[in-house]
Amino acid sequence: MSKGVLYVVATPIGNLEDISQRALETLQRVDLIAAEDTRHTRPLLKHYGINTPLRAFHQYNEHARLEQLLQSLEAGASIALVSDAGTPLISDPGFPLVRELIKRGGRVVPIPGASALICALSAAGLPTDRFLFLGFPPRQTRQRLAWLQNLSREAATLVFYESSHRVVDSLSDMRQVFGPEREGVVARELTKLHETILRGSLERLIDNLRQDSDQRKGEFVILVKGVEQDSQARVEVDAEQILITLLAELPLKQAVSLASKISGQKKNILYKQALNINKT
Ligand code: SAM
Repeated sequence: MSKGVLYVVATPIGNLEDISQRALETLQRVDLIAAEDTRHTRPLLKHYGINTPLRAFHQYNEHARLEQLLQSLEAGASIALVSDAGTPLISDPGFPLVRELIKRGGRVVPIPGASALICALSAAGLPTDRFLFLGFPPRQTRQRLAWLQNLSREAATLVFYESSHRVVDSLSDMRQVFGPEREGVVARELTKLHETILRGSLERLIDNLRQDSDQRKGEFVILVKGVEQDSQARVEVDAEQILITLLAELPLKQAVSLASKISGQKKNILYKQALNINKT
């Protein structure tokens, strides 16, 4: 059982003021800060006058450093894990460390704060009751199209991270798979000087980015509205239309059975509808 504690500390996604008092106190107090990239974390620590020892813990040495960190924790050290921006483990390193420490009976304490996906969702104006965070889409167009295809009927708001190099290509693939009229949001440079939140159809968002090269710079969260909930209602309307047509030609039982097969609607619902139609 590890005696030490691993604090998973969220840091700002742009504006250095977006960090909690508790996060600052934790970074000040721990024995060591394990950072994704020390060059990113140093300015933050300098800004707040924090002199805690800093070590690199990035995706390339994550496995090599893992055992060292676990041993330090076992010996009773307190360690803060931070990534370059936002919440560690969210499209960032840290998962194997947290997983392994828990397996060994160690203690993991979250110190919450910024995350680009929640920040974007809070201002996008798309439904937030259900959302699906998907991280970065595949880089190659062919894989990306196939990957997006699996999401085309999803009702939850879709949230993606994307880089400036691929933002237009990814949006174009989303337009192809989800349709040009599907509502989306491009949240750029959140909490920073050039923060921009563009809202509109995928078609319009692509136009906006194509027409203004400034809109293609920086860091991006792409959000896409899920499939309309009332599409189910439309199926029912269609089922009724099928039923009316079949009832004109066939006995009730047969019409209901066929209408159910064609529309996917339940037989008992169609049966009640058929009785009403025959009454009128
Ligand atoms: N762990 C981070 C978090 O909690 O948000 C995410 C790290 S991931 C490697 C970096 C990606 O997050 C960027 O490529 C971009 O898609 C998104 N991102 C980070 N900061 C952002 C910001 N200020 N504005 C918009 N998107 C941002």
